[in-house]
Amino acid sequence: MANLIIGFLGENPVLTSYHVHSTFSDGENSVGEMIRSAIDAGVDEVGVSDHLVLLAGDQTVDWSMSPAAIPRYFDAIAEASDDRITIKYGIEADFDPKTAEELRDLLQSHAFDYVIGSVHFLDGFPIDVDRKYWDELSETECNDVILGYWNRIAQMARSGLFDFAGHLDIYKKFGTMPTVDISEAIITALDAITQARMAVELNTSGWHKPIREAYPSIAILRGCHKRGIPTLVTADAHKTQDIVRDFDRARQLLRNIGYTRQATFKARNIINTDMI
Ligand SMILES: [Zn+2]
Ligand SMILES: [Zn+2]
Repeated sequence: MANLIIGFLGENPVLTSYHVHSTFSDGENSVGEMIRSAIDAGVDEVGVSDHLVLLAGDQTVDWSMSPAAIPRYFDAIAEASDDRITIKYGIEADFDPKTAEELRDLLQSHAFDYVIGSVHFLDGFPIDVDRKYWDELSETECNDVILGYWNRIAQMARSGLFDFAGHLDIYKKFGTMPTVDISEAIITALDAITQARMAVELNTSGWHKPIREAYPSIAILRGCHKRGIPTLVTADAHKTQDIVRDFDRARQLLRNIGYTRQATFKARNIINTDMI
């Protein structure tokens, strides 16, 4: 859980890119290359946020960094420091109740500026890997995964381990939509996020997936705004060209909803400042 700090009105707004992957997980470019692309794009604050997925037992995924790599990851970020940009130490960590305590220990022993909370697996089901996994499910099973996903997001918020929620509603990536009313589950999750004083990202990568919609949907973002949940625009960049992809469009969308502030992060605190 992060402390919320309200920045001064009239402070210079900053352009940030906080959801950035490098070759430490499944990104195509090195930490240094990603940071240089942020400088070239005029970004004021860049945060590297590679995947950390802790699965129960001996299971691993090849697109996650191993806990043992975290010191090298910090070194690589420090080595890329440059006077022209502020660099943040981030991570995108999966929430799984079975490994939450192990994750808590890891997060406490490293000086992250922020931790993105994501759910890519629901009890072994890979939510955003391939459409074929969804095609194998019946309609009822699809609905159960989606409801289970929102319950897991609520649990994730209550764990107090995370600063902002990554790509909420990612289950829609391949076009799967619930055929039952899931509004109660979404309300419960957003209320838990509010209680945990977390932010929610507007992740532009969904515009380039089969669903062609940012994460989360406008309706969910309205629910966030209504509750005073801070937001920030992110690209989920896995290569240099995507470091600020669709940021203008995303900010316009947030303004239309009523947002005028954006979340920035330092040492696990949220600083809510004017939107650029
Ligand atoms: Zn993710
Ligand atoms: Zn990501």
